[in-house]
Amino acid sequence: MELILLGPPGAGKGTQSKLLETRYGVAQISTGDMLRAEVKAGSPIGLEAKGIMAAGALVSDDLIIRMIAERISRPDCANGFILDGFPRTVPQAEALDKLLHDTKVDLDAVIELKVDEAMLVERISGRFTCAKCGAGYHDKFKQPHVAGVCDKCGSTEFSRRPDDKAETVHARMEAYNADTVPILPYYRAKNRLFTVDGMADMDEVERQIEAVLRKVGVPEPAPA
Ligand code: ADP
Ligand code: ADP
Ligand code: ZN
Repeated sequence: MELILLGPPGAGKGTQSKLLETRYGVAQISTGDMLRAEVKAGSPIGLEAKGIMAAGALVSDDLIIRMIAERISRPDCANGFILDGFPRTVPQAEALDKLLHDTKVDLDAVIELKVDEAMLVERISGRFTCAKCGAGYHDKFKQPHVAGVCDKCGSTEFSRRPDDKAETVHARMEAYNADTVPILPYYRAKNRLFTVDGMADMDEVERQIEAVLRKVGVPEPAPA
């Protein structure tokens, strides 16, 4: 399965792509997570990306495309992958097409998660993650079952992204509208675009995504 989840910051791409990763056994690839790991490691890529991410702007296409080309060539992508946060510009989408064409792989679907701007701000302001395993939570919509303890790994340390603050959120929305929205007609023209109501609760969004996957002929995963 080769799938793209598209949507503005806070739409639920990470949440849904992690659920799909577990259910379908394919690699979840988040360019945001990859960049945050580079920043944390203080690598040359991290040093280049840090200030840009903090400002809510987009990192250069060239850097991102090189990162993705290397990432999708790894063995864990043999069964396919879910792209979360890539492509984010038309040149990135074109570069992905070329990479897929070279490896004779076809995209199954591009799923757009549609969420109102007011809700995005609420989603982003309440977002936090487990510092150890990266599981995603929300102050209002998804607290851990036991307060202060990660459901997945039992860690008691959590973190919040420095760019998840009100000032930066606005810049990220603008980058989405200016640079990422133009990708939608690109995939619509290829009959690959499906829109899902991202305002629904997490289980319902998951069901809607699975309905799209059935429609495009992705084989059902084995029951958990
Ligand atoms: P993205 O990867 O698109 O930026 P996330 O998956 O990180 O978005 O979700 C943003 C925040 O909203 C997280 O705190 C997550 O727990 C919460 N969230 C995600 N999907 C939903 C949903 N359908 N309903 C309510 N909250 C959600
Ligand atoms: P969100 O989950 O809120 O949509 P991400 O974690 O995907 O945010 O991305 C965080 C930041 O990393 C972006 O604001 C941008 O600076 C950078 N980034 C991530 N993916 C890309 C990409 N494909 N192209 C350019 N910049 C990116
Ligand atoms: Zn955890």
